[in-house]
Amino acid sequence: MFSGLLHCADCGAKLYYCTAKGFEERQNHFVCSNYKSNTGTCSVHFIREVVLYALMLEHVRGVIRYVRQFEKVFVRQVSLKSAEERKAEDTGQFLATVRKYTDIQELMPTILNEFISKIIIHAPDKSSGKRKQKVEIVYNGVGILNIPELTDEMLRRNRETA
Ligand SMILES: [Zn+2]
Repeated sequence: MFSGLLHCADCGAKLYYCTAKGFEERQNHFVCSNYKSNTGTCSVHFIREVVLYALMLEHVRGVIRYVRQFEKVFVRQVSLKSAEERKAEDTGQFLATVRKYTDIQELMPTILNEFISKIIIHAPDKSSGKRKQKVEIVYNGVGILNIPELTDEMLRRNRETA
């Protein structure tokens, strides 16, 4: 269901889906279409489907929770983005989509289509000794969203001002 949404951060190509023959389903993954076992023109932008699924479910749930709690703050944050980023912006449409969902338990293609414009996969960074991989999630209407962790303090303050 992620096919077509995943883009390589370095060459812009789409990532394609590989099923691992003879292995478990959890080894199924996506890889940059310009990367072909070291002979291609791009470096490895590999992400396993199970990892991507968990990440996306958590992110979409976080976005819904955040936007429902802090709609005014969110709309202000979006309005502060640069004109370039805002070209394809449609905050109203995005908010209407958010209001359709209270909480989601699983990702379905319809939910992904409604929320997600594209997912940009960066090459893993191992410079810190640990494998870190940046993934940018571009939402329909509002662009890339980085949702802050909701702290108890934020939730408490929000209740007080509501
Ligand atoms: Zn690439």
